[in-house]
Amino acid sequence: MSAVEPTGPAATGPDADRDSALPATVQQALLQARQAGLDKLDAQVLLLHRLGRSPHDRAWLIGHDTDPLPAAAAREYLALCRRRLAGEPVAYLVGKREFHGLELQVDARVLDPRPDTETLVDWALELLAPLRNPSLLDLGTGSGAIALALQQRRPDARVWALDASRDALEVASANASRLGLPVRFLLGSWLSDWDQRQAEAAAQQPAGQALPERFELIVSNPPYIRADDPHLAALRHEPLSALASGADGLDDIRVIAAQARLHLQPGGWLLLEHGWDQAQDVARLLAEQDYAGIAHRKDLAGHLRCTGGYCESS
Ligand code: GLN
Repeated sequence: MSAVEPTGPAATGPDADRDSALPATVQQALLQARQAGLDKLDAQVLLLHRLGRSPHDRAWLIGHDTDPLPAAAAREYLALCRRRLAGEPVAYLVGKREFHGLELQVDARVLDPRPDTETLVDWALELLAPLRNPSLLDLGTGSGAIALALQQRRPDARVWALDASRDALEVASANASRLGLPVRFLLGSWLSDWDQRQAEAAAQQPAGQALPERFELIVSNPPYIRADDPHLAALRHEPLSALASGADGLDDIRVIAAQARLHLQPGGWLLLEHGWDQAQDVARLLAEQDYAGIAHRKDLAGHLRCTGGYCESS
């Protein structure tokens, strides 16, 4: 993601309180945003959003550059631009993010889903291809992105999704209802207290939909950034609990690797997203927990971004 610092153009940018400085047309608004230091795509997407149009409608801007912009719209647009320049993700400003073909509603309660995470979804779909009615678990679901994308592509799957944040689960279940996807959500800290999760699920779910003890696939995009990583400053608008994970960034992955081993069916896989330079460390952690057949997948930039381990069939 772009890491525009809040200093510089944002601080000296257009003053929305002085009407004389307000852009009067679509073209002037885009120009003013660019002069304040905003990326062209962001400037266009935010303007389309303010005009009530889809972010995919950028071609519309070309034919409408001389359209007048009412002062209220101009003022609100410049306010959005300032928030973007101060580091807020565009997805939070427009309230939505496209992920693996789904439109998700997102806000500051959840991590903004990244395109690289679609790699994890694609890998999971490949592994699921030969299975019928597989049971899956997404750990640290956030907005629900991974679980919902898998459920969308595999309507026969029984998909469970867990998060330790009640706020995140509210966002995820709202996305599931809006998209009409029957993912089931659990509140919990990774796979701890599983007996209790099963009892709670049994009390809530209709008969025949008991929370399994073991899954065919467990997927997770956990927090994995080192606590002292300077990159965290650029991500300060997103929940830190979804990003940082101890001194080496691997605290959560260590727990997940150990716990998931006990909740996979024979032949089942654990797939993890991690930092671009953590593939060997994650492979070592999985090997220490007796996973077999460790494999990796690359992200869009060519880094080994996902690592998986499977449990032997017997
Ligand atoms: N990939 C994200 C980033 O570095 C972090 C996501 C995560 O910690 N799970 O911006």
